[in-house]
Amino acid sequence: MPVDPLTAALPTPLEEIAAPWLEDSEVRLLLKREDLIHPLLPGNKWRKLRYNLETARTQGHDTLLTFGGAYSNHIRAVAAAGKLAGFATIGVIRGEAHDPLNPSLQFAHDQGMQLTYLDRATYRRKHEPDVIDALNTEFKDCYLIPEGGSNALAVKGCAEIPGEIASDYDLICCPVGTAGTLAGIATGLPEGKRALGFSALKGGHFLHDQTARLQLAATGQVRNNWSIATEFHCGGYAKRNRELEEFINSFAEEHGIILEWVYVAKMLYGIRSMTKAGAFSPGTTIIALITG
Ligand SMILES: *Cc1c(COP(=O)(O)O)cnc(C)c1O
Repeated sequence: MPVDPLTAALPTPLEEIAAPWLEDSEVRLLLKREDLIHPLLPGNKWRKLRYNLETARTQGHDTLLTFGGAYSNHIRAVAAAGKLAGFATIGVIRGEAHDPLNPSLQFAHDQGMQLTYLDRATYRRKHEPDVIDALNTEFKDCYLIPEGGSNALAVKGCAEIPGEIASDYDLICCPVGTAGTLAGIATGLPEGKRALGFSALKGGHFLHDQTARLQLAATGQVRNNWSIATEFHCGGYAKRNRELEEFINSFAEEHGIILEWVYVAKMLYGIRSMTKAGAFSPGTTIIALITG
Protein backbone atom coordinates (compact mmCIF):
# COMPACT_ATOMS: atom_id res chain seq x y z
CA MET A 1 0.00 0.00 0.00
CA PRO A 2 1.41 3.44 -0.87
CA VAL A 3 1.37 5.95 1.96
CA ASP A 4 -1.69 8.20 1.73
CA PRO A 5 -0.27 11.55 0.56
CA LEU A 6 -2.88 13.37 2.61
CA THR A 7 -1.77 11.78 5.88
CA ALA A 8 -1.78 14.51 8.49
CA ALA A 9 -0.17 15.15 11.86
CA LEU A 10 -3.12 14.44 14.19
CA PRO A 11 -4.13 15.54 16.71
CA THR A 12 -2.73 19.02 16.10
CA PRO A 13 -0.90 20.40 19.16
CA LEU A 14 -2.32 22.76 21.79
CA GLU A 15 -0.18 25.65 23.00
CA GLU A 16 -1.16 27.81 25.95
CA ILE A 17 -0.55 31.56 25.64
CA ALA A 18 0.42 33.63 28.67
CA ALA A 19 -0.30 37.38 28.62
CA PRO A 20 -1.25 40.07 31.16
CA TRP A 21 -4.64 40.69 29.51
CA LEU A 22 -5.49 37.00 30.04
CA GLU A 23 -4.28 36.92 33.65
CA ASP A 24 -6.19 40.11 34.49
CA SER A 25 -9.44 38.54 33.28
CA GLU A 26 -8.69 35.03 34.59
CA VAL A 27 -9.18 33.62 31.12
CA ARG A 28 -7.05 30.80 29.68
CA LEU A 29 -6.26 30.77 25.96
CA LEU A 30 -4.92 27.73 24.12
CA LEU A 31 -4.02 27.79 20.44
CA LYS A 32 -4.84 24.65 18.47
CA ARG A 33 -2.14 24.64 15.83
CA GLU A 34 -4.10 23.50 12.78
CA ASP A 35 -1.50 25.29 10.69
CA LEU A 36 0.87 22.38 11.45
CA ILE A 37 -1.50 19.69 10.15
CA HIS A 38 0.09 19.22 6.70
CA PRO A 39 2.93 21.07 4.95
CA LEU A 40 0.97 21.83 1.76
CA LEU A 41 -2.62 21.85 3.02
CA PRO A 42 -2.61 23.89 6.20
CA GLY A 43 -5.37 24.04 8.71
CA ASN A 44 -8.97 23.95 7.84
CA LYS A 45 -8.30 23.40 4.12
CA TRP A 46 -7.09 19.86 4.86
CA ARG A 47 -10.13 19.24 7.10
CA LYS A 48 -12.52 20.55 4.48
CA LEU A 49 -11.05 18.70 1.50
CA ARG A 50 -10.44 15.34 3.07
CA TYR A 51 -13.91 13.76 2.66
CA ASN A 52 -14.47 15.60 -0.61
CA LEU A 53 -11.42 13.89 -2.11
CA GLU A 54 -12.50 10.54 -0.73
CA THR A 55 -15.96 10.99 -2.25
CA ALA A 56 -14.60 12.19 -5.60
CA ARG A 57 -12.52 9.03 -5.79
CA THR A 58 -15.33 6.66 -4.78
CA GLN A 59 -17.56 8.27 -7.39
CA GLY A 60 -14.88 7.63 -10.02
CA HIS A 61 -13.97 11.24 -10.85
CA ASP A 62 -10.47 12.07 -11.98
CA THR A 63 -10.83 15.86 -12.06
CA LEU A 64 -11.71 18.40 -9.35
CA LEU A 65 -13.25 21.75 -10.32
CA THR A 66 -13.59 24.64 -7.93
CA PHE A 67 -14.02 28.42 -7.69
CA GLY A 68 -12.19 31.30 -6.07
CA GLY A 69 -10.83 34.81 -6.19
CA ALA A 70 -7.34 35.47 -7.52
CA TYR A 71 -5.84 35.38 -3.99
CA SER A 72 -7.85 32.46 -2.65
CA ASN A 73 -6.17 30.07 -0.16
CA HIS A 74 -8.80 27.53 -1.19
CA ILE A 75 -7.66 27.59 -4.84
CA ARG A 76 -4.08 26.96 -3.71
CA ALA A 77 -5.21 24.13 -1.44
CA VAL A 78 -7.27 22.35 -4.12
CA ALA A 79 -4.38 22.62 -6.58
CA ALA A 80 -1.97 21.10 -4.04
CA ALA A 81 -4.43 18.43 -2.89
CA GLY A 82 -5.15 17.39 -6.48
CA LYS A 83 -1.49 17.00 -7.24
CA LEU A 84 -0.86 14.99 -4.05
CA ALA A 85 -3.86 12.73 -4.45
CA GLY A 86 -3.66 12.23 -8.22
CA PHE A 87 -6.55 14.35 -9.50
CA ALA A 88 -6.44 16.85 -12.35
CA THR A 89 -7.67 20.25 -11.12
CA ILE A 90 -9.50 23.17 -12.70
CA GLY A 91 -9.70 26.55 -10.99
CA VAL A 92 -12.51 28.89 -12.08
CA ILE A 93 -11.22 32.33 -11.13
CA ARG A 94 -13.32 35.47 -10.63
CA GLY A 95 -12.68 38.31 -13.06
CA GLU A 96 -10.13 39.02 -15.78
CA ALA A 97 -7.25 36.71 -16.70
CA HIS A 98 -4.04 37.56 -14.83
CA ASP A 99 -0.91 38.05 -16.94
CA PRO A 100 1.57 37.57 -15.39
CA LEU A 101 0.03 35.35 -12.72
CA ASN A 102 0.09 36.58 -9.11
CA PRO A 103 1.97 34.34 -6.62
CA SER A 104 -1.19 32.43 -5.54
CA LEU A 105 -2.25 31.65 -9.10
CA GLN A 106 1.35 30.87 -10.08
CA PHE A 107 1.48 28.34 -7.23
CA ALA A 108 -1.80 26.77 -8.39
CA HIS A 109 -0.52 26.64 -11.97
CA ASP A 110 2.76 25.05 -10.81
CA GLN A 111 0.75 22.32 -9.05
CA GLY A 112 -0.81 21.55 -12.44
CA MET A 113 -4.11 23.38 -12.01
CA GLN A 114 -5.78 24.54 -15.21
CA LEU A 115 -6.99 28.11 -14.70
CA THR A 116 -10.05 29.55 -16.38
CA TYR A 117 -11.78 32.89 -15.75
CA LEU A 118 -15.40 34.01 -15.34
CA ASP A 119 -16.46 37.65 -15.61
CA ARG A 120 -17.73 39.04 -12.31
CA ALA A 121 -21.43 38.99 -13.25
CA THR A 122 -21.34 35.33 -14.30
CA TYR A 123 -19.10 34.46 -11.34
CA ARG A 124 -21.77 35.80 -8.95
CA ARG A 125 -24.16 33.23 -10.46
CA LYS A 126 -21.58 30.41 -10.42
CA HIS A 127 -23.70 27.98 -8.39
CA GLU A 128 -26.77 28.38 -10.68
CA PRO A 129 -27.66 25.48 -13.01
CA ASP A 130 -26.96 27.19 -16.36
CA VAL A 131 -23.44 28.23 -15.33
CA ILE A 132 -22.72 24.77 -13.85
CA ASP A 133 -24.07 23.09 -17.01
CA ALA A 134 -21.81 25.21 -19.20
CA LEU A 135 -18.78 24.29 -17.08
CA ASN A 136 -19.75 20.61 -17.12
CA THR A 137 -19.98 20.71 -20.90
CA GLU A 138 -16.59 22.37 -21.24
CA PHE A 139 -14.81 20.24 -18.62
CA LYS A 140 -16.34 16.76 -18.62
CA ASP A 141 -17.25 14.85 -15.47
CA CYS A 142 -15.64 17.01 -12.84
CA TYR A 143 -16.20 16.69 -9.11
CA LEU A 144 -17.45 20.15 -8.09
CA ILE A 145 -16.24 21.78 -4.89
CA PRO A 146 -17.96 25.10 -4.04
CA GLU A 147 -16.13 28.38 -3.46
CA GLY A 148 -14.18 28.24 -0.20
CA GLY A 149 -14.71 24.46 -0.11
CA SER A 150 -17.70 24.72 2.24
CA ASN A 151 -20.21 21.93 1.71
CA ALA A 152 -21.67 19.10 3.81
CA LEU A 153 -18.48 17.01 3.51
CA ALA A 154 -16.38 19.96 4.67
CA VAL A 155 -18.63 20.25 7.71
CA LYS A 156 -18.11 16.55 8.37
CA GLY A 157 -14.32 17.00 8.28
CA CYS A 158 -14.34 20.00 10.63
CA ALA A 159 -16.77 18.29 13.01
CA GLU A 160 -13.88 16.00 14.01
CA ILE A 161 -11.91 18.87 15.56
CA PRO A 162 -13.63 19.05 18.99
CA GLY A 163 -13.21 15.31 19.54
CA GLU A 164 -9.43 15.70 19.28
CA ILE A 165 -9.21 18.12 22.20
CA ALA A 166 -8.18 16.21 25.31
CA SER A 167 -7.95 19.11 27.78
CA ASP A 168 -10.95 20.77 29.37
CA TYR A 169 -12.41 23.91 27.73
CA ASP A 170 -15.55 26.03 27.48
CA LEU A 171 -15.37 27.68 24.08
CA ILE A 172 -13.82 27.05 20.64
CA CYS A 173 -13.08 30.14 18.53
CA CYS A 174 -12.39 30.13 14.79
CA PRO A 175 -12.24 32.64 11.93
CA VAL A 176 -15.15 32.70 9.46
CA GLY A 177 -14.93 33.13 5.68
CA THR A 178 -17.47 30.82 4.03
CA ALA A 179 -18.47 29.29 7.41
CA GLY A 180 -17.77 25.60 6.76
CA THR A 181 -15.29 25.48 9.62
CA LEU A 182 -17.65 27.08 12.17
CA ALA A 183 -20.58 24.92 11.02
CA GLY A 184 -18.40 21.83 11.46
CA ILE A 185 -17.14 22.73 14.91
CA ALA A 186 -20.66 23.51 16.12
CA THR A 187 -21.76 20.14 14.74
CA GLY A 188 -19.02 18.23 16.57
CA LEU A 189 -19.17 20.06 19.93
CA PRO A 190 -20.06 18.08 23.07
CA GLU A 191 -23.08 19.28 25.10
CA GLY A 192 -22.42 22.34 27.25
CA LYS A 193 -19.61 23.79 25.12
CA ARG A 194 -19.89 26.66 22.67
CA ALA A 195 -18.35 27.88 19.40
CA LEU A 196 -17.68 31.52 18.52
CA GLY A 197 -16.74 32.54 14.96
CA PHE A 198 -15.05 35.82 13.98
CA SER A 199 -16.07 37.15 10.57
CA ALA A 200 -13.09 38.13 8.41
CA LEU A 201 -15.35 40.17 6.13
CA LYS A 202 -17.45 43.28 6.47
CA GLY A 203 -21.22 42.95 6.66
CA GLY A 204 -20.86 39.36 7.83
CA HIS A 205 -24.45 39.08 9.08
CA PHE A 206 -25.39 36.77 6.19
CA LEU A 207 -22.89 34.31 7.66
CA HIS A 208 -25.45 33.29 10.31
CA ASP A 209 -27.72 31.95 7.55
CA GLN A 210 -24.78 30.40 5.76
CA THR A 211 -23.62 28.56 8.92
CA ALA A 212 -27.14 27.31 9.61
CA ARG A 213 -27.63 26.19 5.99
CA LEU A 214 -24.37 24.20 6.03
CA GLN A 215 -25.23 22.46 9.29
CA LEU A 216 -28.65 21.59 7.94
CA ALA A 217 -27.12 20.15 4.76
CA ALA A 218 -24.65 18.06 6.75
CA THR A 219 -26.80 16.75 9.60
CA GLY A 220 -30.43 17.74 9.00
CA GLN A 221 -30.46 20.04 12.03
CA VAL A 222 -29.14 23.39 13.23
CA ARG A 223 -27.65 23.54 16.73
CA ASN A 224 -27.85 26.63 18.94
CA ASN A 225 -24.39 26.33 20.49
CA TRP A 226 -22.65 28.91 18.27
CA SER A 227 -22.56 32.61 17.45
CA ILE A 228 -20.56 34.98 15.23
CA ALA A 229 -18.78 38.23 16.14
CA THR A 230 -18.99 40.49 13.10
CA GLU A 231 -17.18 43.63 14.32
CA PHE A 232 -13.52 42.55 14.03
CA HIS A 233 -13.10 42.57 10.23
CA CYS A 234 -10.56 45.45 10.49
CA GLY A 235 -11.78 47.10 7.27
CA GLY A 236 -13.10 44.10 5.32
CA TYR A 237 -11.98 40.92 3.60
CA ALA A 238 -8.21 40.93 2.92
CA LYS A 239 -7.99 44.48 4.27
CA ARG A 240 -6.14 45.57 7.39
CA ASN A 241 -5.95 48.64 9.59
CA ARG A 242 -3.32 50.03 11.94
CA GLU A 243 -4.74 48.33 15.04
CA LEU A 244 -4.40 44.94 13.32
CA GLU A 245 -0.82 45.70 12.18
CA GLU A 246 0.13 46.63 15.72
CA PHE A 247 -1.52 43.54 17.12
CA ILE A 248 0.34 41.26 14.67
CA ASN A 249 3.68 42.90 15.52
CA SER A 250 3.18 42.68 19.27
CA PHE A 251 1.96 39.07 19.04
CA ALA A 252 5.09 38.09 17.09
CA GLU A 253 7.31 39.83 19.65
CA GLU A 254 5.59 38.38 22.71
CA HIS A 255 4.78 34.86 21.51
CA GLY A 256 7.10 34.23 18.57
CA ILE A 257 4.23 33.39 16.20
CA ILE A 258 3.67 35.30 12.96
CA LEU A 259 -0.08 35.33 12.51
CA GLU A 260 -1.77 34.80 9.14
CA TRP A 261 -3.49 38.16 8.79
CA VAL A 262 -6.52 37.62 6.50
CA TYR A 263 -8.28 35.40 9.05
CA VAL A 264 -6.30 34.29 12.09
CA ALA A 265 -4.99 37.66 13.30
CA LYS A 266 -8.50 39.16 13.16
CA MET A 267 -9.88 36.34 15.31
CA LEU A 268 -7.16 36.73 17.96
CA TYR A 269 -7.53 40.51 17.87
CA GLY A 270 -11.24 39.97 18.50
CA ILE A 271 -10.56 37.52 21.34
CA ARG A 272 -8.24 40.02 23.01
CA SER A 273 -10.72 42.91 22.61
CA MET A 274 -13.59 40.85 24.02
CA THR A 275 -11.47 39.53 26.89
CA LYS A 276 -10.39 43.05 27.85
CA ALA A 277 -14.04 44.16 27.69
CA GLY A 278 -15.01 41.40 30.12
CA ALA A 279 -17.03 39.34 27.63
CA PHE A 280 -15.75 36.04 29.08
CA SER A 281 -16.41 35.21 32.72
CA PRO A 282 -13.42 34.47 35.00
CA GLY A 283 -12.36 30.84 34.75
CA THR A 284 -13.25 30.52 31.04
CA THR A 285 -10.92 28.38 28.92
CA ILE A 286 -10.83 29.26 25.21
CA ILE A 287 -9.42 27.12 22.41
CA ALA A 288 -8.57 29.27 19.36
CA LEU A 289 -8.06 27.48 16.05
CA ILE A 290 -4.99 28.65 14.17
CA THR A 291 -6.51 27.73 10.82
CA GLY A 292 -3.55 28.72 8.67
C1 LIG B 1 -10.06 29.56 4.18
C2 LIG B 1 -9.62 30.00 5.52
C3 LIG B 1 -10.56 30.29 6.55
C4 LIG B 1 -12.04 30.34 6.31
O1 LIG B 1 -12.71 29.16 6.63
P1 LIG B 1 -14.26 28.98 6.25
O2 LIG B 1 -14.55 27.56 6.50
O3 LIG B 1 -14.37 29.36 4.79
O4 LIG B 1 -15.05 29.90 7.09
C5 LIG B 1 -10.07 30.61 7.81
N1 LIG B 1 -8.73 30.68 8.03
C6 LIG B 1 -7.82 30.43 7.07
C7 LIG B 1 -6.37 30.55 7.40
C8 LIG B 1 -8.23 30.09 5.78
O5 LIG B 1 -7.32 29.88 4.81
